[in-house]
Amino acid sequence: MTYFANLGQPVCVTGYIWYIEGAKEKILVDSGGDTEHLTRIGLPAHDLQSLESGLNKVGITANDVDLIIQTHLHFDHTAFASRFPNARVIVQKRELEFARNPHPIWAEMYDQKLLASLNFEVIDGDFKISEDVKILFTPGHSPGCQSVSVRTENGLAIIAGLCSILDNYNPPALPDGKTIPVIAPAIHSDLFQAYDSLMRIKELADIILPIHEPAFLTRSVIP
Ligand SMILES: [Zn+2]
Repeated sequence: MTYFANLGQPVCVTGYIWYIEGAKEKILVDSGGDTEHLTRIGLPAHDLQSLESGLNKVGITANDVDLIIQTHLHFDHTAFASRFPNARVIVQKRELEFARNPHPIWAEMYDQKLLASLNFEVIDGDFKISEDVKILFTPGHSPGCQSVSVRTENGLAIIAGLCSILDNYNPPALPDGKTIPVIAPAIHSDLFQAYDSLMRIKELADIILPIHEPAFLTRSVIP
């Protein structure tokens, strides 16, 4: 997760489907990962919650969802997108183009079967869903990675769409005692773009929600 930092330390990461409560439409951010795909590339995935159980907890069904904002199209964020029959799926133009014709080194990261039947709404750059929900173009983890800002009563929350954890935004001091503002994600399509996107998120957000941060696993509502 953290480029050239925390080397040699095992990391436990989590994956989420986020539900934005209070918006006019019923909005999800990302559509989850499944054991089949995660274990296929050697990730020891376990304790995955079922889609139904997760939706049940927030009092909605798959039919109710109007909008899925895909931070990006890697298989660990798109596994259940086709299970929402009424949802438009918002994706960046650059992400969809790359996903449909990926560089060979990332061919495994984009499962064409997961993407085939989706009702995509393609955007290019920053985009306003409503006064309270906005999409920020934050490339670098993947070519068309995006983040979602949500105005809450406790400040601006940003679901940071680059595969990252809180350490990326609040780095521990380096072994020599130096401090740095952010750590780029270890998995990236463009390291420097990814760094700039993290800086943009950090400057704007009051609450940062990195999409693989385990600290949210035990919380049902944020903030
Ligand atoms: Zn990821």
